[in-house]
Amino acid sequence: MPSRDPLLMASHSDWHRSLAEAIRDPLVLLQSLGLPRSLLPAAQAGAGTFPLMVPRSYLARMEPQNPADPLLRQVLPLSAELVDAAGFSHDAVGDQSARRAPGMLHKYAGRALLIAAGVCAINCRYCFRRHYPYGIEPRRMEDWEPALRELAADSSIHEIILSGGDPLMLTDARLSQLLGRLAEIPHLSRLRVHSRLPIVLPDRVTPPLIELLTQHSWATYMVVHANHPRELSEDCRLALRHLVRGGMTVLNQAVLLRGVNDNADTLTRLCEDLVNLGVLPYYLNQLDRVAGTSHFEVPVETGKALIAELRRRLPGYAVPSYVQEIPGELHKTPVV
Ligand SMILES: *Cc1c(COP(=O)(O)O)cnc(C)c1O
Ligand code: SF4
Repeated sequence: MPSRDPLLMASHSDWHRSLAEAIRDPLVLLQSLGLPRSLLPAAQAGAGTFPLMVPRSYLARMEPQNPADPLLRQVLPLSAELVDAAGFSHDAVGDQSARRAPGMLHKYAGRALLIAAGVCAINCRYCFRRHYPYGIEPRRMEDWEPALRELAADSSIHEIILSGGDPLMLTDARLSQLLGRLAEIPHLSRLRVHSRLPIVLPDRVTPPLIELLTQHSWATYMVVHANHPRELSEDCRLALRHLVRGGMTVLNQAVLLRGVNDNADTLTRLCEDLVNLGVLPYYLNQLDRVAGTSHFEVPVETGKALIAELRRRLPGYAVPSYVQEIPGELHKTPVV
């Protein structure tokens, strides 16, 4: 079969247009929000190590002229990213030692994770995979053969997790091909998709996509990623409702981030808004200590106090598990 890059095969649907129109230039971001040009040199320096990328729909949810806006903080590069903080490294979560085949990470019992795409629709400055060597992972369908063989040979694996990058950056055609091959493996009974696109590029959620994800015999889980209640704009809420009505279980994971969501009122509103949409708060992740992200770190003691406060305010099912990824551990570790 001839190989084609999924992004080059893109049709001119709405979500591809939204992606093409995303902001990639720090100056345009600052100008769009009426922010001072004095922020530009730092933004350019930070973007040199990990590019800036912000969809227009996400930009529209920010408060103009507020350099401390919690959504802006997630995407605006700062000179703090260039600080070489002790204890912060390039592979903080030990991904490389869990790599069992090209594109396949196997850390935890019963679950294998595929780096299905090396790109995202938004570049989150705190990203735990901001230094991930995506260049070594599969791009063409035939590059997946070793991972597919490995999965077919290991009947202890029951759940396949599509991750990245963002797996929904693949076209429907490519996703359908990959899922079709995975569906042939009889011991896979659950599909999980980890994606931030329903939040940051909601027009990616279409009826054909939902059909694609739910058509096989497996139970489908979608784990989205929102950190602040203001990310749940009207278009995003609609996308989340579609996913829930489409028959999948939708969960949210958030990262505890300084200056973004490190207070009880913000987290309460986020969790409450999510459960009102039928989305369950799954994890609140302690920041992975990845180089360039130390300015986002919140002390674990603060995180524990925040969770305790959420328990006083919310039903049990609306309180996420506060977890940390410790390399070498056999599961994400609860912070207690
Ligand atoms: C986080 C992660 C998972 C999923 O862990 P859950 O606790 O089941 O959500 C699976 N594989 C890898 C490599 C991971 O990093
Ligand atoms: S969407 Fe996820 S993988 Fe992509 S940049 Fe943000 S945190 Fe990283």
